[in-house]
Amino acid sequence: MKGVVFNVLEEMVIEQCGMLAWNEILESQALEGIYTAGESYPDSDLFGLVDCISKQTGIPAETLVGAFGERLFKGLADRNPMFIDAESTLKGFLKSVHDVIHIEVRKLYENPNLPDFEYEDGADDTLLMRYRSPRKLCILAEGLIRGAASHYDTQITIDHPVCMHKGSDHCDLIVKFL
Ligand code: ZN
Repeated sequence: MKGVVFNVLEEMVIEQCGMLAWNEILESQALEGIYTAGESYPDSDLFGLVDCISKQTGIPAETLVGAFGERLFKGLADRNPMFIDAESTLKGFLKSVHDVIHIEVRKLYENPNLPDFEYEDGADDTLLMRYRSPRKLCILAEGLIRGAASHYDTQITIDHPVCMHKGSDHCDLIVKFL
């Protein structure tokens, strides 16, 4: 996982729980906590931090990962405003993630290990985003989508009827624009 993801996690924990809490979490995980945005760090470090934050706050890990996804969208958008500025609607933005944004991200970062998205644009104001990633972080993807919806001031619901955590080889995220 790229350092930028850790940077945003650090921001979120410090905002919500303070610097002391973040330092205690790093200590408990025996991590130094210095993350360079473009460098890669073990996924297990991130999952360890999330588990620890979950234990300390009593927030279930899944809820935490979803909330982190929302915050991660904001963190990434603040750092890379050109990706947001290029699209005027949430649907346009979501459809640009795979073919435009991820291609640009691959130019910026070496081996970013991005998830794969396929789309089906529904006529009835829905967008199916088919998610595939060996990391199975579909809950993080849901959070990122909610973060984008909030940025575009657009009300949505997300259905997740097919999931890699329920034995499928992909997840279907059905975004409905209200
Ligand atoms: Zn899923």
